[in-house]
Amino acid sequence: MDLLQPTENGLYCEPGDFYVDPWRPVERAVITHAHSDHARSGSRSYLTALPGVALLRERLGRDASIRGLPYGESVDMNGVRVSLHPAGHLLGSAQVRIEHHGEVWVVSGDYKLQADPTCEPFEPVKCHVFLTESTFGLPIYRWPAPERVFAEINAWWAGNQQNQRTSILFAYALGKAQRLLAGVDAGLGPIVVHGAVARLVPAYTSAGVQLPEVYQAEPQWIQAVRGRGLVIAPPSAIGHPWLRKFGPASTAFASGWMQVRGARRWRSLDRGFILSDHTDWDGLICAVHDCGAERVGVTHGFAAPFARWLNEQGHASWVVPTHYEPQDEEEAEVLPSTAALESASPGAAPLESASGVDIAVATTEGGRE
Ligand SMILES: [Zn+2]
Ligand SMILES: [Zn+2]
Repeated sequence: MDLLQPTENGLYCEPGDFYVDPWRPVERAVITHAHSDHARSGSRSYLTALPGVALLRERLGRDASIRGLPYGESVDMNGVRVSLHPAGHLLGSAQVRIEHHGEVWVVSGDYKLQADPTCEPFEPVKCHVFLTESTFGLPIYRWPAPERVFAEINAWWAGNQQNQRTSILFAYALGKAQRLLAGVDAGLGPIVVHGAVARLVPAYTSAGVQLPEVYQAEPQWIQAVRGRGLVIAPPSAIGHPWLRKFGPASTAFASGWMQVRGARRWRSLDRGFILSDHTDWDGLICAVHDCGAERVGVTHGFAAPFARWLNEQGHASWVVPTHYEPQDEEEAEVLPSTAALESASPGAAPLESASGVDIAVATTEGGRE
């Protein structure tokens, strides 16, 4: 019997009687990270990695029963051994290692292999079965080094200052925004953050993450950033009157989706920076290889093409159905054609299907204009 099974409530471990990132309220939930599609309210108790407790509490409210488990320590749940290991996705994000009668499963949650000063680096965990996300599970997605991206962002900011423009950078409020704060050259000028970003900053600083001083959009700080500062706001603020107060501005978005500059919504922006908190294609393969799993379940993204590719490479792989419907992270921007893309390339060789998908993306986007 499989140690984890998809059920109507979420991924369920029957011998341990708990769920991983359940999408409905349950008795016992083990949470990989605080993004809203993984951390839903209403369950009786939550177990999560210790550095992520404050963010999870921010998400679930004061009354939620949350237990923080240090990375690498294990708890016994009905004779099943559960431990949490860094996933490198955002502060406190974890892979869940589940061991029962000598069999080990690992649920990756969302993860990345790139360096990120706001969280602990991804740790490969040996297992028999690996359940991996596949948000960017196509070979077209390959990330530039973050140092290069941050150099581009700093150059954009400095260039805007020369033109007396405010730099407005859109990024997901949890994770990406704090990673940007940690990575930009704060010596260039003052930084104002939208309230949705500001709300989450204390959880980072209290966890010891070094972030520059940031200000909210109060009159004196609006005045200070105008024409020379940086404003970090969530994508929901794009086109919002709130932005007008910052005067003439250059706008940009930081996301993995910038690699295929598809979605029409982003075309109104001046720049796109390729920076993702999910792993790219090479990272997925690296993670699958390093964990040494005999079987690989794929979920959350381009699951069907990636599972097919893994099967062709000799890994026993299958698609794990999940109900992750993100609102505040990168998957939220997945092009509406994902399902169509997956069914559009049945049996195609993966690299061919990938380039086919690339074209399909362009076609679909074109069709929406
Ligand atoms: Zn996430
Ligand atoms: Zn996710």
